[in-house]
Amino acid sequence: MGAPSAMPIFRRKTTPTVEPPYASGLRCQARGCSRYDAVACTYRDRRGRGCTAAFCADHSVVVDDGNYCRRHGGTMRALGARGKVKGGLPDVDNRGPSLVQHVANTLEPHIATALDAVARPHEQVIAEREVNKAFDPDRSSRWERAWRLVDGTGVVIKVAVFVEESRPDVVAVRVGSHIVFEEVPPWIASRQNPEPASEEQEEAARREFYRQLQVTIAQGVDRVRQTADHPAWAQ
Ligand SMILES: [Zn+2]
Ligand SMILES: [Zn+2]
Repeated sequence: MGAPSAMPIFRRKTTPTVEPPYASGLRCQARGCSRYDAVACTYRDRRGRGCTAAFCADHSVVVDDGNYCRRHGGTMRALGARGKVKGGLPDVDNRGPSLVQHVANTLEPHIATALDAVARPHEQVIAEREVNKAFDPDRSSRWERAWRLVDGTGVVIKVAVFVEESRPDVVAVRVGSHIVFEEVPPWIASRQNPEPASEEQEEAARREFYRQLQVTIAQGVDRVRQTADHPAWAQ
């Protein structure tokens, strides 16, 4: 009758630890996030190339039931539910559509106001909500979102925010037939700077970029209106 030599050891069958059904073991790639339930971005471009990004539910974007990284979520939203692009989705590293959408969303009220300000009673503004792929006569292409002042017979003034496929960093604006603005936005240009700008500097540069855009677009709209009213002035 000695003392029990040891506490009995319970040998339990190892049960799998309970994990959410979507736990993937993939580390989320968002800075500072330590979740291991990331899901890979499902974007596939026109050449069949996929995206290597994987993010957790907090840091990814769902568009039409598809799971995307932020960039490609932006691309899918910009292009609209149809994923409608002729010839397939933009190259995996092309940020044109989401850049156009981002700038266009910020400018939306200003462009609508500029067109409203010169509209005649029988004219109205028609604004696109999504980015379209457009082609130039030489077959080069661009991502574009447009606003049109129309009357009963057609377009009176068109304002388009666009990014050419061959120059994916340059935001351009056309009013009527004139390109009135072409610039690399400061938040993209600053990536090339060795010295990072302060948050205040970045914000100031961003505000100045949009201020210039608004002024330039409003002037362009006025000019086209006057030209339409007085065609001789166009010379
Ligand atoms: Zn995360
Ligand atoms: Zn992606």
